[in-house]
Amino acid sequence: MANTERDLIILGGGVGGLVIASVAGQLGRKVTLIEKSGSLGGDCLHYGCVPSKTLIESAKVASLMRRGEEFGLPQVIPRVDLSRVSKASRTNNMTKLSFASAGPCSSSRHESCPA
Ligand SMILES: Cc1cc2nc3c(=O)[nH]c(=O)nc-3n(C[C@H](O)[C@H](O)[C@H](O)COP(=O)(O)OP(=O)(O)OC[C@H]3O[C@@H](n4cnc5c(N)ncnc54)[C@H](O)[C@@H]3O)c2cc1C
Repeated sequence: MANTERDLIILGGGVGGLVIASVAGQLGRKVTLIEKSGSLGGDCLHYGCVPSKTLIESAKVASLMRRGEEFGLPQVIPRVDLSRVSKASRTNNMTKLSFASAGPCSSSRHESCPA
């Protein structure tokens, strides 16, 4: 029978839960992290910090396109499709990459992580 004994059980795989799971794993503790939604990351990754910064970056890029002449480039007036901007803010590859490298699966101590 599998050993189900744990030092720590964490409810929620948001920033808080992930950081605690990661630190506990690095300290050699047996940890189970329970996340009720389909994916880890919580509000910060899916709705808050990360998408909001990507939206701000999209606004900066649109602004720079309009100001091209200040930099010796042709001015471009972008046609902003908010639904595409919003989609990009949630599917940005950099988001996934940075999360994957910072998440608890960077530590092989976690049993749920792929080998
Ligand atoms: C627009 C916006 C921008 C933000 N920008 C920043 C920023 O720039 N910098 C910053 O530091 N913070 C920012 N924040 C705040 C940041 O998002 C929160 O501080 C952070 O998400 C809190 O993390 P958490 O793990 O405590 O909770 P959450 O992110 O809410 O995660 C909780 C997790 O627990 C899961 N859960 C809930 N109940 C259960 C249950 N019973 N069983 C199992 N799982 C459960 C949820 O599904 C969720 O995944 C921003 C927030 C918003 C809304």
